[in-house]
Amino acid sequence: MTRVLFATSEVFPLVKTGGLADVSASLPDALCRSGIDVKILLPGYPAAMAAVRDGDGERIARFSAGFHRVELWQTRLPGTAVPLWLVDCPEMFDRPGSPYQDSEGADWWDNAHRYHLFARVACMIALGEAGVGWLPELIHCNDWQTGLIPVLLDPIPNRPATVFTIHNLSYQGLFSHETFRALGLPDHLWRFDRLEFYDQLSFIKGGLGFADQLTTVSPSYAREIQSPAFGYSLDGLLRFRQNVLTGVLNGIDTRHWNPASDEHIPARYSQGDLANKGSCRKWLKKELGLEATDGQPLLGFIGRLVEQKGIDLLLQVLPTALAQGMQAVILGSGQHSYEQELLALAARFPGRIAVTLGYDEGLAHRITAGADIFVMPSRFEPCGLNQMYSLCYGTVPVVHRVGGLQDTVFDPRDVDPEEANGFCFDAPSPEGLAQAIQRAATLFRDRRAWRKLQDHGMAADYSWQQRAQTYEGIYRTALAGVR
Ligand code: ADP
Repeated sequence: MTRVLFATSEVFPLVKTGGLADVSASLPDALCRSGIDVKILLPGYPAAMAAVRDGDGERIARFSAGFHRVELWQTRLPGTAVPLWLVDCPEMFDRPGSPYQDSEGADWWDNAHRYHLFARVACMIALGEAGVGWLPELIHCNDWQTGLIPVLLDPIPNRPATVFTIHNLSYQGLFSHETFRALGLPDHLWRFDRLEFYDQLSFIKGGLGFADQLTTVSPSYAREIQSPAFGYSLDGLLRFRQNVLTGVLNGIDTRHWNPASDEHIPARYSQGDLANKGSCRKWLKKELGLEATDGQPLLGFIGRLVEQKGIDLLLQVLPTALAQGMQAVILGSGQHSYEQELLALAARFPGRIAVTLGYDEGLAHRITAGADIFVMPSRFEPCGLNQMYSLCYGTVPVVHRVGGLQDTVFDPRDVDPEEANGFCFDAPSPEGLAQAIQRAATLFRDRRAWRKLQDHGMAADYSWQQRAQTYEGIYRTALAGVR
């Protein structure tokens, strides 16, 4: 039974800012079910520590990491059998709000120190220095917050193997040279082919350059990040490492995202009978104060309000769509200017568009069930989970043809009509998005054709089972390389 330490900076349902949290829960769960001895390692943020103290958590180790006293606590990830280990170091992780930012939205000043400590603790566990009596054969690292783990392990003989997964290359963990020195990292790492990146310390380069195997969250994104357009000047390094880079499409947690059993939605339904989907739409409109009209599609959008997600494109397209009688529900938070523009649009079109700013898990489920069309005009999208949630819920996605969106959404113009499940557009422009929405709205009036699209989306398998097996294969390759 392979022993895997899954190091991550967020995990659903305890701490979540995006898709990383979902994957960090559902992939280890799937691995655990298929017999891998996996433990999740997470910083001891307040929400996570509360779960330990309220539940049946126990302290399994106490040690020093540099100047810090650290305790390791063990519990189970809620709703799963997966052991969850928390790195309790209050001066680093006991802070309110987002794991990465203060209440003003500024990055914590000491993020480099916080995630360096997290990496050190992962390595101490792996090398038997934490006194927990369980030694992983492999550490699965995720995004820049864990990028130093493969670097710190690199010089150690008989070290565990490392896999580094890129969930989003645009977040890189960049810090100053002074920070590099303050962390006490050896001078030889300050080189363009190691951790230095245009005169800055890059945490993500540690993962990209030093891990035995690299993965990213969709085959298309694996290709895209090797090109200058999507590579953030790391495309050269990624091309250099292309032999160890695999794109594995994310799965979704079908226990949380299933219209037949979803506890967040007012009426449950399945592919065989979509009548209750209509009820979900009705309730959603009522909940959000939208007019109870029928005949025109209800558009949904959920996500971070940042340029990546193409919310600016949607803002340009919505006035026409709303004037034509379509309706829209938007849930998200992010850049202040987008939030203000959305609120202004809501004031201009009362009863047609509902904007909810903030994070609301239950509402996300109700929108996914109640909307007719789910819009994802992302400029880039490593995988994207919302389009898969939508497909499962019979909500037809309209997406920019990029990254994981193009690996999951198939347009009737491109594929056999028996395979189509949504609409894609090529250029991330307001015109491209508007045309795709119009095509969808036209087909929406053809109930039989629409039902076919819904059927194809709902019939597909988005579960982790098969994808977890692909990860197991990657683990075997990584292990073979260090043995
Ligand atoms: P990213 O990780 O880039 O934000 P993903 O599509 O991979 O995008 O994952 C986003 C996850 O976060 C999804 O589960 C989505 O439903 C959820 N999410 C994003 N914003 C919100 C919000 N405001 N309220 C509830 N859930 C949200």
